[in-house]
This record gives sequence, C-alpha cells and structure tokens, in this order.
Amino acid sequence: MVQAKTRHIPRELDQAAKTVAQTLQAAGFRAWIVGGAVRDLVIGRKVSEIDMTSAARPEVIEALFEHTIGVGKAFGTMIVVLGDVQIELTTFRADGEYRDGRHPESVQYSDTPEQDAERRDFTCNAMFLDPLTDEFLDPTGGQADLLGGVLRTVGNASERFSEDALRLLRLARFAARLDLEVPDDIRDAAIACAPRLSQISKERVLAELTKILTARDCHKAIGLMFELGMISYALPELALLHGEFYGNEDSIGRRMSALEWLESDHLASGLAVLFDPLGGELESARSALLSLKPSKALAREVEQLWETLTALEALEPMDAVDVDRGPHRAARLLILGHSNWPRARDLAAAFGDIRSLSDAFEGGHLGRNGRELAEFASELSAGDIAPTPLLGSKDLGALELRPGPLWGETLQASYVAQLEGKLKTREEALAWLEVRAASSAE
Ligand code: ATP
Ligand code: MG
Repeated sequence: MVQAKTRHIPRELDQAAKTVAQTLQAAGFRAWIVGGAVRDLVIGRKVSEIDMTSAARPEVIEALFEHTIGVGKAFGTMIVVLGDVQIELTTFRADGEYRDGRHPESVQYSDTPEQDAERRDFTCNAMFLDPLTDEFLDPTGGQADLLGGVLRTVGNASERFSEDALRLLRLARFAARLDLEVPDDIRDAAIACAPRLSQISKERVLAELTKILTARDCHKAIGLMFELGMISYALPELALLHGEFYGNEDSIGRRMSALEWLESDHLASGLAVLFDPLGGELESARSALLSLKPSKALAREVEQLWETLTALEALEPMDAVDVDRGPHRAARLLILGHSNWPRARDLAAAFGDIRSLSDAFEGGHLGRNGRELAEFASELSAGDIAPTPLLGSKDLGALELRPGPLWGETLQASYVAQLEGKLKTREEALAWLEVRAASSAE
C-alpha cells in the first residue's frame, strides 16, 4: 500500500514543490520529491523540508528560476528559492568512483530516477514522489524496509560505506531517529569500514553530529556509533578523553544516560554532554571539542555551560548555609543571572549525580543543587536575581583608574558585594570604590 501523498505536506512546502515541478515540466523535465520528505510521508511524520530531483542540469535550473543558489553546482546540487521556502534540487546522478572517500571523483549525471536511486545511501532515502500526480517510485524497496523496521543500504553495504564513510554516521543517525534495526550483514560492514571515518573532514563530521545531537533519541545514535566502533575514528580526541572513552563502558554509559534525559535538543547542550570532562581534565575536554572546529561562539557556549555546571556542583546544600545574604547567596544569584541557566538546569537534571562520580561522595550533588536552585529562583523576582549594578564604568573613569583588567575585576567585585547584600545603595558603593581605588593605588 502506498502511503506517501502530497496532501500530507504542509501547504507552503507543497505549493513550492508544485511550482518547481510545473516550471520544469514546461521545459520538458519531470521532477520528483525525494529523500527525507518522501520517507517522512511514508511513516506519517511531519515534513519540514523538501529535496527534489530531475534530469535538468544546474545551468538549466539557473536559467529557469529567478532565484537560485549554486550550493553544490559542480555536483549537480542547486537551491531554488521561492519566497520563504528553499528547495534543494539535484540533478539525477550515477556517481563515479570516490577515491578519497569524500566527494565523487567525477560527477556522472543520469537520466532516470531509477539510476539516481542507485547512488543514494539507504533504500528509505531512495523513494520518489511526483508532486503533480502523486505517482510513487520505489526502485530499491525502501517502503517495505521502512515499514518492516529495517535500515538497508542501496546495494552492497561495504562498497557504499567505502565510497563515502560519512554514510556510517548517517546509518547511526537514521537508525536512531527512525527506530530501525540494522541487519547483521550491514552491521558487520559498518564495523569493517569504520576506520575509513578518519578520512572524513572535521567539518562534515561536525555537520552530521549536529544533526544527530539535535534529533530525538540521539543517545541511541551515539550508542550505535560506539557499538559499531565509529567513535575512535570519527571522534578520536573524544575516544581518548577521560582515559580511553572507547572501551570505557562507564564513560559512554554516563554520557548516553545524560543524553537520554536531556529535555532540549539544543546543540551546545548535546556537545556539552558528549565532551564533558566527567570529573577529568577540563583542558582535554576542551581540546577534544575544539578538534571538531566548531565556531568560536559554539565553543564558548559549551565552555560556559561547563563553567555553570561546575559552579552549580560546588554549591553547599541550601539548608546548611545562609542564602539570605553573603557569599552563598551571591554564588546562587550569579548562576541564576547567567543567560545559560535554563540550559544548565536541564543539563543538571539530565546528569543528576553522575557527572563527576567521585565528587558525589564528597558533596558534589549536581542533581540536588539544580533542583534546589530552581526552587530558590521560583521565589525571587528578576530584579532580585539580577539587580541593576550600582556601579558602572563611568564611575571608574571618574576615579582616573587606568582602563584594563582591573576595571572588569573591580566592577565584578562590586557586583558580587551587591549580591551579597554588603552594598545596598549607590552611596555605599561609591564609598567602597574609593577605598578600593586608594588601596590599589598604593
Ligand atoms: P533529513 O531529514 O535529515 O534532511 P534527508 O534524508 O533529507 O534527511 P539529506 O542529508 O537532506 O537527508 O540528504 C537528502 C538525500 O540525499 C538523502 O535522503 C539521500 O538520498 C541523499 N544523500 C545525502 N547524503 C548522502 C550520502 N552521503 N551518500 C548517498 N546519498 C546521500
Ligand atoms: Mg533533507
């Protein structure tokens, strides 16, 4: 029974797909929806983006549509922009050899969807749907595999993984996301081909890891990567982290359990769990993360999450200290006032007390501290948590303190004193500043 029907596609996307197909039809080409959209229609999931394919070459597409982007023009991939919708439109291909395990050595175009199906990775990704007639093409038996709960490569698994080892990560991603079994022969081929992952560029690994970590059931994908021996080749620095990640059931188990409990599918949170030092050296965790070449902003976001978690872990139990004033109050308000608190809270709940096991016996109770702090916050107003600073850089300028690191330190110290309840008014703060400036001038 064919279940893929365009009427289940969100209207705007469906309209865009029809426009693309009609424009190509007028020029003598038949266009098909392919890949993830058809797959999602078959299993009744919401379609969020559309990839299409036809025999039209990139130059023809450029001429036919007003607004195109040549993202992978040399490999036959163009983006057609129609208002708010972007459709990736590829030319039917019959890929050549993949000598470097990355890009096809030469692109060979083909004329039919049946030929194009042969170069696609998995049978469930090689189904075609005509947006104008609803005709469904399934040359490799993708629908039966998908509905039967198995993930199968198009053609010989070893050959397909050897051509492009990124398909191994895609195997882990789709198996987890679609809850599909990987047949034994494909598992064996994946294990045998895993070393080829070391040829894949860090950029491609990070792009795929991003899709893995931002999808539900990401812990299953990471688990499969571990089981099939991919981690030490795709993420070798992670494998070495915290003494042999690879083979260290305890380390992978803790990470997977935290990934499973994570509420959000936020990338920095996922990376923070995957590369967490788990009580080991922060520096090794940092360099493992940086080996993936994340953007500066992304790396900073992950590191700040670790900083917040470490501060949270260090808090004493609420009932053992005075949180109405003093350093225990300031430490709490600083955590709550940071923009990453909601994510850190999520991470604390997901990690519970397994972030740094050895600390758990010495009072580092991340789960408990996260809960207690959230409860503490619920009784505070935004102004209580992050009051407007009593002092600003203008006040420092007036004192003729030379700008430099001392400025930042002084402002931070005055803010902490304010959070501790030691400085309540601007007058008190200015007097405090004068004393401090006088002592630093000595
Ligand atoms: P998603 O929902 O994550 O976008 P998708 O199946 O659409 O899933 P894409 O990465 O957008 O995945 O790729 C679109 C299609 O291109 C795939 O369905 C597959 O047919 C083909 N494809 C993508 N990458 C590869 C690859 N490395 N090898 C073979 N075919 C690929
Ligand atoms: Mg897609």
